[in-house]
Amino acid sequence: MQHNPHWTLRQAQALFDKPFMDLMFEAQTIHRQHFDPHQIQVSTLLSIKTGACPEDCKYCPQSARYNTGLAAEQLMQVEQVLTSAQKAKAAGSTRFCMGAAWKNPRDRDMPYLEQMVQGVKAMGMETCMTLGMLSETQAQRLAAAGLDFYNHNLDTSPEFYGSIITTRTYQERLDTLGKVRGAGIKVCSGGIVGLGETIADRAGLLVQLANLPEPPESVPINMLVKVKGTPLAANDEVDPFDFVRTIAAARIMMPRSHVRLSAGREQMSEQTQAMCFMAGANSIFYGCKLLTTPNPGEDQDLALFRKLGLNPQHHHTDAGDVQRQQQLAGELLTADTAQFYNAAR
Ligand code: SF4
Repeated sequence: MQHNPHWTLRQAQALFDKPFMDLMFEAQTIHRQHFDPHQIQVSTLLSIKTGACPEDCKYCPQSARYNTGLAAEQLMQVEQVLTSAQKAKAAGSTRFCMGAAWKNPRDRDMPYLEQMVQGVKAMGMETCMTLGMLSETQAQRLAAAGLDFYNHNLDTSPEFYGSIITTRTYQERLDTLGKVRGAGIKVCSGGIVGLGETIADRAGLLVQLANLPEPPESVPINMLVKVKGTPLAANDEVDPFDFVRTIAAARIMMPRSHVRLSAGREQMSEQTQAMCFMAGANSIFYGCKLLTTPNPGEDQDLALFRKLGLNPQHHHTDAGDVQRQQQLAGELLTADTAQFYNAAR
C-alpha cells in the first residue's frame, strides 16, 4: 500500500473546522478517486467468546466490571463457528469476522483459533479476528493459518485514552498493530465517537491512524452505543453532523482505506447514514446484532441500499462462488443466531 502523507493535528483539526459543504465535497471527491461510490463492502461478525472481559473499557457491555446483564460465554467450539460461517457464506457474506472478549488470547486457545481461521478460509471466505492484544508469535501463527485481517481499535486520541481505558496502554495497542502488520496480516483499526472526547481528540485519533507506517486497510468509525450499566450510559448524544464530519475527515486522511460505518447505526436515521456514505464510508457490518448491541435489521439495510442505489461489494473467491454471489447480490445476509451482527467495512 502506498503511504499517505504525514498529517499534523493542526491539519486534521482544520478539516473539522471547514464549512460542512466544503468538507463533504472534498471527501466525496477523494472517495471517487479511489473507490466506486456505489459499492459498499459488507461483513458479518460472530462473537466467538462473549462477555467476562477483564479490561475496563468504559463503553463496553462485555467488561466483567460493569453489570449490564450480559450472559458470559466460553470460547465457541470450532464446529459451531464453522457451521455459522457456512450459513453466512450461503447467505452471501464474503468476509467472516470472529470476535472474542479477551485481554489477549492464551496460548492454549491458539490451536482452536487456528482451526477456525483455516476452516473459514477453506470455504473461500476472507477471515478477520479481533481477540485483544497479540504476541508476535501469536500474530505469526494466525497469519500462517491464513488470517487476512486483524481488528484492534485505538478508540480515541492518546490524550483522552486514559479517561476511557486504564487496563491497557495506548502504546500496547500500537504495539499489537505493529505485530499484526509485521506478520503480514491486514490491519483494521478505528475508534469511537461519543465517549466525551473533544473535536481535537477526534482529530488526534485520525492523525494516529493516518500516520501509522501503513494506514489501516480498514477504519471502523463507531458511534457510542450507550448501554445501561456501563459508565458512559448517560453520555450526551453526538450531533449527527459531527459524526459525519469524522467520517469525512477519515476519508480525506486515509483515501485508500475502507472507512466502515460500524456500531451505532441502529440509532442513526437513514438520512444520517446516507450522509455518512456521501462522506466516504464504504463498508458496514450487516445483520441484526453487532457483537452484543443491536444493529439495523437486514430488511432496513436492504431498503436503504435500494433507495440510495448502493450495491454490496463482493470479493472474488472461487469460480463457484461468483455465480452464487451473483444470485445472492441484493439479498445480503440473513442473520440466523443472536450472535450475528452486521456492520460495514
Ligand atoms: S472493548 Fe474489548 S477489550 Fe474492552 S472490555 Fe470490551 S471486549 Fe474487553
